[in-house]
Formats: sequence, structure tokens, C-alpha cells
Amino acid sequence: MEENNVKSNFIKNIITEDLESGKHKQIVTRFPPEPNGYLHIGHAKSITLNFELADEFNGKTNLRFDDTNPVKEDTEYVESIKEDVKWLGFDWDALYFASDYFDEMYKRALVLIKKGKAFVCDLTAEEIREHRGTLTKPGVESPYRNRTVEENLDLFERMRSGEFKDGEKVLRAKIDMTSPNINMRDPVIYRIAHSTHHNTGDKWCIYPMYDFAHPIEDAIEGVTHSICTLEFEDHRPLYDWVVRECEMESQPRQIEFARLNVTNTVTSKRKLKKLVDEKFVDGWDDPRMPTIAGIRRRGYTPESIRNFCREIGVAKASSVVDEQMLEHFLREDLKAKVPATMAVLRPLKVIITNYPEGKVEMLEAENNSENEALGVRQIPFSRELYIEQEDFMENPPKKYFRLFPGNEVRFKNAYFIKCNEVIKDEEGNVVEIHCTYDPETKCGTGFTGRKVKGTIHWIDASHALPAEFRLFQPLILDEESEEDDGKDFLDKVNPNSLEVLQGFVEENMKGVKPQEKFQFIRVGYFNVDDKYSTDEKPVFNRVVSLKSSFKIKK
Ligand code: ATP
Ligand code: MG
Repeated sequence: MEENNVKSNFIKNIITEDLESGKHKQIVTRFPPEPNGYLHIGHAKSITLNFELADEFNGKTNLRFDDTNPVKEDTEYVESIKEDVKWLGFDWDALYFASDYFDEMYKRALVLIKKGKAFVCDLTAEEIREHRGTLTKPGVESPYRNRTVEENLDLFERMRSGEFKDGEKVLRAKIDMTSPNINMRDPVIYRIAHSTHHNTGDKWCIYPMYDFAHPIEDAIEGVTHSICTLEFEDHRPLYDWVVRECEMESQPRQIEFARLNVTNTVTSKRKLKKLVDEKFVDGWDDPRMPTIAGIRRRGYTPESIRNFCREIGVAKASSVVDEQMLEHFLREDLKAKVPATMAVLRPLKVIITNYPEGKVEMLEAENNSENEALGVRQIPFSRELYIEQEDFMENPPKKYFRLFPGNEVRFKNAYFIKCNEVIKDEEGNVVEIHCTYDPETKCGTGFTGRKVKGTIHWIDASHALPAEFRLFQPLILDEESEEDDGKDFLDKVNPNSLEVLQGFVEENMKGVKPQEKFQFIRVGYFNVDDKYSTDEKPVFNRVVSLKSSFKIKK
């Protein structure tokens, strides 16, 4: 069952206090993605947190595109982000673009200049960096710091009108070059960039920096609690400075929490984009990608992702969550929801030598042993069948309870079957096995004669529907580390992350639609792929394996 209340956490406590003390009558949160890539599982955590906190306290949540960098942003990303947020199950109260506030931001910059709190600086980016100092060494003031208000107003206006080249001048806040917090050492708040913006076109050639823009965006929208990730903690004094000195009417409060990191998963848009651009994957929605689009195509459900995000909670300290936890919530969500049917991924032909040629009988099979409401279906059984190659061994080790010469197993929903003969090709590969069935052992007849230790799944060969199966291993074979340069990270790409198999599913699967999900007994949960499936041949992505002993070969 989904439990909608946000687990108790320090952010929820702050909100509760702010409402009880009367500081706010209603809370407003926002999810502020930069449209420079697709959303990933880390964003899902931020989305779930912001929307559910607001929901719980009858507040509001805005979706705001933080599109202040014209170079990397694209409308393709805007559309995908909207789709992903909706798919996760959330609906924003208002949709905003930070770029809609460019006029207001420009005015606020003028407020700073007029108060002597901002100045136009001619130092190069390199020189600004050198002047900034270090954690142990104070910064050095810019020689342009003491320009008059009139001079600054004039130069800033000329920056805006396009008189200068990229990088020639910047607008900087005038705060304190000796501050122990480097973010407060006269940070750059506007830069020149002669590039076309996806929303404002060529109207602007100066663009506000994140630390200046974000607090103004929050304040304009009346955001009460501006929730962001931990790397912005040291920026908070600057956030508060901007709100105060720009004389914003409303005073949002920034609160930081730890990013979500997942084992074997990269959640940096820069790296994900690299995987896409260099064709390690077949797009942002490749089922191996940790993007929302990718895990949706793979077959994750919004419920499982929301439950996962709730369960991991909100903390101040960074940690890495095991990917198996996400898998756990998916299994929990699907186990009683989706039909369980049989599929054979690596087929091996079985001939039942004592079964009459030409005869086909229909056997009854449950659709989900955990949910009777899903009913039963009739499946054909005849003389020729397919089983998994792995369910037969000519020379089995001890404790192998599946099919081997002389051994008898149960064919699920059918009969006890005994293996008598192994047929090989010229190279000695097993191509077919010959078995006999015991008509007395028909499933559901109350047969109590003898017991067998193994039960395996199968498909009737003459009624099998060819299908493709795509099995996945982690795309990256290591933890993500922030220090990685791009090259190291690509070295860790797993060359065996995708395995494509041609096998069979039950005939009644004809016509399955993209996003339909199934449990293939003993093999895992699968989702119909929306890119490669055709009417003739469904393609199934394995979302996650079952917890059973069935292991897919590496
Ligand atoms: P990049 O991947 O390029 O560093 P980003 O992940 O910060 O960028 P944004 O579009 O700026 O991308 O993120 C939107 C919101 O999602 C921000 O509030 C950010 O703090 C939050 N967010 C991003 N990644 C995570 C994560 N791994 N866990 C939790 N929240 C995240
Ligand atoms: Mg960011």
C-alpha cells in the first residue's frame, strides 16, 4: 500500500514549526530543474519530496525551469521533464521559466548597483580566480571595485546593449573579499554571453549567474521553503544576501539535504549526456539509463519509485543507497498486480515421445498465485515443447533437481516428465531431448503418487510466439565518484550491460502493448519495450529478476 505521508524528517519539522508559529499560512515549494538533460532517479527524490511536502500541508509546488544558461538548454529537455514529472504522478500548481524573470532580475541588479553593492569588473575569469584567495588566504580586491555608481550604471547598460564581447566584463556583487566563505568574495552575478536562448531568443546578451538568479526566482514566486542539495549549503549566506540586498518582498528559506546516490549508477547529467552522445546507449531513454525515461522504458512503475524515494528519507549526510532497494519496491509493486506467464528465453526442444502426434490439449494455469482475481487461462500442451537450456544438464552436479537423463521433473501446470535420451548435433551440442510423460500426473488432478524435486517452465512449440528478450546488467561497473574525469568514467562502462535473446512466449501474448508488464515465471519481471516491439514480435525488457535461484548467465 502506498503511504502518502512524508516520513518525519528535519525539513518537515521546519515546515511544521513555520506553520504553527504563523510565519507562513501556506507553504510553497518548487522543483527547479535546469533543462540541460533528462531527469534521473536523483531528481525523482527531489520531486517526490517537494510535491509530497506541499501536498501534506495543503501547500503548492511550482515546476520552474531554471533556464539561465542559454548554451546548454533545449526545448527537448523541457518537454521530457514535464512528461517525467507527470508520469511520476505529480501535477504542478504553476509552470514557470526563470528566463521570464530576466527583466525583473535586471532591475534588481540595478538596485544593487545604485546601493553601491555591485560593480562592473574588467578582470578576466582567470584573474578573478587568482584574486579570489583560498580557504586559508583572503582574497584581493579588484582594481575596478571602487567604480562610481554612475560609471557602473553606464557600463552595465552597455553590457546589456551588446557593446562588449563575451568575457570582457562581468557584474560582481560587492561583499567582502576577506570573508571566510569564498562564495561571499565578490561573486560574479552577471556575465556576457552572445548566444540565442531557447525562450528569450536574442533579447539578452547578459545572463544572471545561478547564485544571483535562484534566490530572486524563489522570492518572485513566493516560495517559502527552497529545498536543494547539500553542495549549496555554503552558498546559503549569499542566497540570503541576494534576497535582502535586492529588497525582495518575500523571503524564502533555503534548506539543504543530501543528494541521492545509488550504487552502480551515475546521476550526473554531464556524464549521462556523454553516454548518449558517444552512443554507449541508444538514447536518454535506454532501459539501462538511470533517467526517468530510461527506467520507465525498462518497466519501473511510478509507485515503486515514489515508495523508494519515501523510504530512503531525507538526511543531511551523504550516503549511497543500494540499487537493490529500488528493485525491492518494484517487486513489491508488481507481484500481485501483473499476470505471471511462461516464457522461454534460451529454448531447448523437448519431444514427449509417448504423447500422441497431432494431439493438443488445453491445460489450466493460474494467472497470479498471489492474486486470484487475475483468474486463470488455458494453455496448449502437445508433443513438442521448449524448455530453458539451463533447465537441462547432461552431467549434473549434486543437488541439481531439474532435467537430466533418467530424472523426472514437474512441468508447471502440466505433467511429470522424464528424460530418456539426449540428441546432439555433429559438434556434440545438445539440440533436443526425448522424454516421456506420465498421464496420471496431470496437474490439478489430486495425484499423490510420487514426488519430484524440480518444477520447470515450458512452452508448447507449435503454439509458441517468437519474442525478443533484453536482459540488463549495470551500465557502470563502479560507484560514481565526483573526482572522475570523463575518461575514467567511460573506462568503467560495462561492455556486457545488454544481452539480447531470441525465445518464445505463450501464444496468448500476441498483441501485447508497450508498457504492459508480466512476470515470466522463474525468470523475472518484464515490460514490453515501446521502441522495438512490433505487432509480429514483442520485445520484452527485463525490469528486474525474481528473487529465486534462477540466474541469468553473465
Ligand atoms: P547536474 O547533474 O548537471 O549536476 P543537477 O542534478 O543539479 O545538475 P538540476 O536540474 O539543477 O540538476 O536539478 C534540479 C533539482 O534536483 C535541484 O534542486 C537539485 O538539487 C535536485 N537534484 C539533482 N540531483 C539530485 C540527486 N541526486 N538527489 C537529490 N536531488 C537532486
Ligand atoms: Mg544543478
